Amino acid sequence: MGTSIAPRLLAWFDANRRDLPWRRRTDAWAIWVSEVMLQQTRVEAVRAAYERFVARFPTPAEFAGASDDDLMQAWRGLGYYRRARLLREGARAVVREHGGEVPSDPDELGRLPGIGVYTRGAVASIAFGHAEPAVDGNVERVLARHRGIGSPIKQAATQRQIRAQVVEWLDDRRAGDFNQALMELGAMVCTPTSPACADCPIGSDCVAHAEGTTAALPVRPPKRQNIDVTSHAILVRDETGERALGNRVPANEPNAGQVELPGAGILVTTDTDALPGILRQRHGATVALTGELARVRHAITHHRITFVVHGATVSDPGRLEWLPLTDATPWTTPARKAFAKASTWPGRRSRPPGSAEA
Ligand code: SF4
Repeated sequence: MGTSIAPRLLAWFDANRRDLPWRRRTDAWAIWVSEVMLQQTRVEAVRAAYERFVARFPTPAEFAGASDDDLMQAWRGLGYYRRARLLREGARAVVREHGGEVPSDPDELGRLPGIGVYTRGAVASIAFGHAEPAVDGNVERVLARHRGIGSPIKQAATQRQIRAQVVEWLDDRRAGDFNQALMELGAMVCTPTSPACADCPIGSDCVAHAEGTTAALPVRPPKRQNIDVTSHAILVRDETGERALGNRVPANEPNAGQVELPGAGILVTTDTDALPGILRQRHGATVALTGELARVRHAITHHRITFVVHGATVSDPGRLEWLPLTDATPWTTPARKAFAKASTWPGRRSRPPGSAEA
């Protein structure tokens, strides 16, 4: 299966590794948190949230006791809040079953809620030095190209082939560094659309580079088509201007646990005329619309959502709640964008955190 790339890869990593906050930590909890945050989220977005999170929840026990609102606030800016709830379940299991210490045994790690195959490998190797592979999308790409693997990357047999190759190459004296080096190479050099093969430390025996097939590898399933959604909601403040009407999103809906602007929900296409009836039916509220305030765009996976936000007078709020326009309320990202666009965020700051428009 070829000469091990470990010496070249590790030498490159030692000279080029990015100075990231989680790389300065050695405790398993901090590494676990970073690995969960980095799934589906850009490094730059994770950087700020990570420091805030580990300062506030330095051990699993502290996070195990976090309320839903604390959890939402600590995870703000990262999206995919389900990850945070699973992380809390994992922290609770650590407290309940392991006396608050993250277990070092890979199998025990793998049994914790929220820890899948990748996270198990990452924490076991980086925090505890076990010779376990940690295969994420970056590693898949590097391996598929370097070994010239032309079978669909998500196929079980391909995944087994990749894991076996990583295990064979892995330098078990520096297992965590080896895994991080492969991921770093994928993030910095062997990038999805323009790999810098001329600068690649493992380019001399790379099959895709030699055969000119980097653009074709790895083989992924065709992308899902985008779905356009237009959804309407109301933005109403109380007479103080310090609170707005919100709906706590119930469990099992997108954005569960957060507070959204009252409307039909995030993935439901509606029109303006239907909005008062929806608010009556969904929340027992009686409102009259007073005109459009703002339009904001938001994307979730392959959904491209346009939110049309209306002003309204409210004669009965029903089950909706008047909630503070502060960081302490876990407003959804579309709601924050609407507050910024409609200039309704009180205080000296004109826009809430996490409201940058796409
Ligand atoms: S030579 Fe190019 S394609 Fe091969 S691993 Fe390096 S960057 Fe990726």
